[in-house]
Amino acid sequence: MQTSIATVSLSGGLAEKLEAIAAAGFRGVEIFENDLLSFDGTPKDVGKRIAELGLRTVALQPFRDFEGMPEPQRGRAFDRAERKFDVMQELGTDMLLVCSNVSPVSLGGIDRAAADFHELGERAAKRGLRVGFEALAWGRHINDYRDAWEVVRRADHKAIGLVLDTFHTFARKTDLKPLRSIPPDKIFLVQVADAPWLDMDVLSWSRHFRCFPGQGDMPIVDFVEAVQATNYSGPLSLEIFNDQFRAGSTRNFAIDGLRSLVYLMDQLREKTGQAAPGLPAMPPRSRCLGMEFIEFAADEQSSAGLAHLFGALGFRNAGKHKSKQVTRWTQGGINLVINSEKEGFAHSHYITHGTSVCALGLKVDNAAATLDRARKLHDTPFRQPVGPGELEIPAVRGLGGSLIYFVDPTSELKAVWEVEFDAVAAQAKNADAGLTAIDHVSQSMRYEEMLSWLLFYTSLLDVTKTPQLDITDPGGIVVSQVIQNADYSLRIALNGSQSERTLSSRFLSDYFGSGVQHIAFATGDIFATAAKLKANGVEILPIPENYYDDLEARFGLPADLLKRLQAGNILYDKDETGEYLQVYTQSFENLFFFEIVERRGYKGFGAANAPIRLAAQSRQARHPAIPRL
Ligand code: MG
Ligand code: MG
Repeated sequence: MQTSIATVSLSGGLAEKLEAIAAAGFRGVEIFENDLLSFDGTPKDVGKRIAELGLRTVALQPFRDFEGMPEPQRGRAFDRAERKFDVMQELGTDMLLVCSNVSPVSLGGIDRAAADFHELGERAAKRGLRVGFEALAWGRHINDYRDAWEVVRRADHKAIGLVLDTFHTFARKTDLKPLRSIPPDKIFLVQVADAPWLDMDVLSWSRHFRCFPGQGDMPIVDFVEAVQATNYSGPLSLEIFNDQFRAGSTRNFAIDGLRSLVYLMDQLREKTGQAAPGLPAMPPRSRCLGMEFIEFAADEQSSAGLAHLFGALGFRNAGKHKSKQVTRWTQGGINLVINSEKEGFAHSHYITHGTSVCALGLKVDNAAATLDRARKLHDTPFRQPVGPGELEIPAVRGLGGSLIYFVDPTSELKAVWEVEFDAVAAQAKNADAGLTAIDHVSQSMRYEEMLSWLLFYTSLLDVTKTPQLDITDPGGIVVSQVIQNADYSLRIALNGSQSERTLSSRFLSDYFGSGVQHIAFATGDIFATAAKLKANGVEILPIPENYYDDLEARFGLPADLLKRLQAGNILYDKDETGEYLQVYTQSFENLFFFEIVERRGYKGFGAANAPIRLAAQSRQARHPAIPRL
């Protein structure tokens, strides 16, 4: 696989983009003409920089409105092409990408277009150059790769070939079968972009919603499989137009791009059972068996506050680290860790974010293999010195500089609690509140980061993503999407907000970055748990009476159930999968909070209740005098 990316895919100036593309490890680059025009230097300077960075310029693009023009536009189109050929020679690329004509004055006819391309081929060949023809989904006469291929076939010139683009193909739901029989030497370039399925005009869809393979809904693997069937061996080039990417970090998005191509080839290998050229050997997506622990970074004072809250939530102090200021809290199958060390990773996380979740510990089938796969996917491994008697737990960087640890049941890592912790004598106070497991973890992030973390999780772990939901916050819309594994032992909700005024955004500014905003624990009996929490003095988020009137109208619940829900500030939802009952604690230091859920078969996350909860929290946030735990 030759990896390539079009400069239009990234934010920043051309020099910055090229550096990020090279640093990520791409081999090729398509130069988008606008990037060249806004560059302070000649095309020759750009070509020199590209060569210094060890990159190859795959193509100059796009050249518009060429084929099928009547005179005098036809003559002018050829003159324009000659000038582009000059630029290409300075730049040091041999290919010009021509996209199908959208001009209202252009004329149809495959033969007319083929004749134009034959002549362009003659002119290009004289200079040792080539021209690739791409069907835009909104082209005036040519909007289907099959017609573009027919033009190229009839042009019958060695300097004229076809450019395939996944987006244009899937946007029109074009059949992939004819693609398989195109001769590989006539395919000059394959461009890949994914997108969510949206019902909107194709041009806007393409300009704003393209994303890296695996981030959208299109079956890109099927496309690449059809391309592979032709024996094409040229570049796979990412060509993404996306407002989120333009707002993001150039370097990180370049790495995301490469990760998406590695993952795409990995999926292709899995699908075909054949080696994918250029792809390193890597373990399959890791099977996640659940969340082994959640680690909080704290200082001395806030660790006492957290310990108090955990106790009130029914957790038991089950261990103290042998050499560090780290304690373990357990209930049911849940492990929480409070780390108040004065140096090391957790401490720096505390300095940056305040009291916060600094690490998630995932239970996987093979921790070493998971780390190996993470490396191949260009994720960022993390190591810090381990003290005597401590285990080295494999880890990678996660959201907002946090860590994701991998532990497994087969290696020595399974004994981490026994190896690193001393047991603490049983405590009588605050008995178990019936919490059994971590139901889900909710991470808040900038909207621009959502696609990155979606790709991070789905490429590394054997998880699927749910459709995106828009949730109404009093301050704007929050977009929410969940990644989860087959048995639901891992569910992580990713929430991104574009408005500065949503609770999710305020979390980001109060917290100085992205991170875990809430953790939901499962219970088998929410009424019993709620009663226990109340007795233990846990402050619960109050839910307005109107909500319960509406519940009655929507679901026709029995009066006594309604009364119990209202008395406990418990939210309720029901769909075809079952019932969902949820209750929220008030926030800890205005940063994060806990949720208790009882699932009666229900598979969702109570999206219908989210606006109620957000409005309630927003009211609390405006009244900071309300005592906190
Ligand atoms: Mg394209
Ligand atoms: Mg939740």
